[in-house]
Amino acid sequence: MAPLDPHSFSDSTNPPTTDVSLSLYFDFPSATIHGVAFFILAFPYAGELSFDTRSLTIHQVLSPTDLSPLPFSLSSSPDPIKGTQLSISLLPEDDDTAFNSFFIVFSTSPSSTALQWLCPPQTFNKKHPFVYTQCQSIHARSIFPCQDTPAARIRYTALLNVPRELSAVMSARHVGRRPPVSGEGHSHLLPNGFNSLWSSETRVVEEFLMNQPIPPYLFAFAVGELGSREVGPRTRVYAEAVDSVLDAAAKEFAGTEEMIRQGEKLFGEYAWERFDLLVLPPSFPYGGMENPRMVFLTPTVIKGDASGAQVVAHELAHSWTGNLITNKNNEHFWLNEGFTTYAERRIVEAVQGEDRAILNTGIGWKGLKEEVEKFKDNLEFTKLKNNQEGVDPDTIYSEVPYEKGFQFLWRIERQIGRPAFDEFIKKYIATFKFQSIDTERFLKFLKAQVPGIEKDIDLVLWTEGTGIPPDAYEPVSDLYTKILSLANEFKLGRMPREDEVADWRGQEWELYLENLPRVLEASQVLALDERYRLSESKDYEVKVAFLQLAILSKCRNFYSEVEKTLKEVGRMKYLRPLYRALVQGAGKEEEKILAKRVFAEARECYHPIAQGVVESILAKHI
Ligand SMILES: [Zn+2]
Repeated sequence: MAPLDPHSFSDSTNPPTTDVSLSLYFDFPSATIHGVAFFILAFPYAGELSFDTRSLTIHQVLSPTDLSPLPFSLSSSPDPIKGTQLSISLLPEDDDTAFNSFFIVFSTSPSSTALQWLCPPQTFNKKHPFVYTQCQSIHARSIFPCQDTPAARIRYTALLNVPRELSAVMSARHVGRRPPVSGEGHSHLLPNGFNSLWSSETRVVEEFLMNQPIPPYLFAFAVGELGSREVGPRTRVYAEAVDSVLDAAAKEFAGTEEMIRQGEKLFGEYAWERFDLLVLPPSFPYGGMENPRMVFLTPTVIKGDASGAQVVAHELAHSWTGNLITNKNNEHFWLNEGFTTYAERRIVEAVQGEDRAILNTGIGWKGLKEEVEKFKDNLEFTKLKNNQEGVDPDTIYSEVPYEKGFQFLWRIERQIGRPAFDEFIKKYIATFKFQSIDTERFLKFLKAQVPGIEKDIDLVLWTEGTGIPPDAYEPVSDLYTKILSLANEFKLGRMPREDEVADWRGQEWELYLENLPRVLEASQVLALDERYRLSESKDYEVKVAFLQLAILSKCRNFYSEVEKTLKEVGRMKYLRPLYRALVQGAGKEEEKILAKRVFAEARECYHPIAQGVVESILAKHI
């Protein structure tokens, strides 16, 4: 067996799956999906085939011709990171034939790590349940068995059978919504009597088609009582059917088409036809997820001042870098995120101006320095290309691939000049689109396109070295320098005057707060809040940066606000620093008790991925 990816049981000698057809019956009362999947392999194969699963029940594997059972086995105990290996024996009786397709009948379990099932009280409208996916990095295997590595790319069709009062969206083209038909999509094979419930008149089928090959981590759906608003010629914004939420989202993302046009100028034609947006309930664990055709977003990006555009710019940029060109496995994650962060800032620069882009770069620079400091006992994860054998990608998720990757590309841009770098990026995308590549492929291409580049830039130090290379660059602009000097003056006891911050938006405050000393006198924290009410900011970036400062300074007046925040959002960007600030370091007994209690009470409201991440932070320090 030759493994392809440290996070997958997939075997490089097995044919990759090219197409999957899924029939999925959503049983909300038991938080379970019962499914039939039909797989087509790249070439006929006789032998053992290895798939990834996690928390799945495999009922049957069936031959494509006569539906006779094929032997399969599951590994006896699940690997804590990779899950359970499914081995299928594709050994036909008459051994001159080989299979290139087969069926698997399976059920998910309520503990499937990709899925969050929300009961009505956890939604905005409180009337209907909701379920949504988050498959990155290695959670698609908890929805259906697959070769769950980005080295493999699949096309898919899906029939989602859901209660009639709900509707569904996917990272795929919507073919239609219609009454279910008995036996369609091999649904007669469904287990536990769900085959006969398939065509009940209380149900509806939503049909989807994804005919562009995607890595499994981009498989996505959401089911709930959804509404939508048109915001551009190829963009609708979806959310729970609550007018206030839909109106606010439509307003926040009104500038999306302009960003798509900027993206096309930079990278070439937009390949995915639609660029729709889905605003999820507050438990969504990320800022955004770049699911093709249907980006998933946290509601915390709706701030009422169009500044959420930055996250949309990031997810849009993934349409080229990440979704068209994909990292071969998570050890090369910077190829997805470094490029996308670079592209995001170019789009922001074009749409909102250079000052705004530099501010983002400055916030990123500060974040990178802090992450490198955080990994000081485990420098491996300060490398762009790193070794993740035996490592859970969710627990080492950091800004390094984003910000160091950005810095690397920005360094190349400074070396060869922007016009040449723009040409290079266009050519890179045209050459590798719909492929999954690694750092070596990138470097080989770079050296071929820019002969002699390795003499000017230490490419090995940048991609394999730890920490921040000496030729990384802190950005400069009048606004950026002004904010940093005001933060320095605070150390000498001077708070900014109201006229100095009058036109500050969230990002200015975020940069300011992050450049204050990590620990202040409690009286200073109180004075800052008294004047600028940062603990009540509607912008979570500002609020969380302030609350983190308050915890580190042991200013306990704000602990009830900390608790409230941890209970109302599930975005890991906010959970991580707040829980870490509470439990890290000596003399934190009261804070540790608070963290444990709040997590016990809020846990159910977090997505399973966020639950795992908070658990690992608490386990490390308590
Ligand atoms: Zn990203």
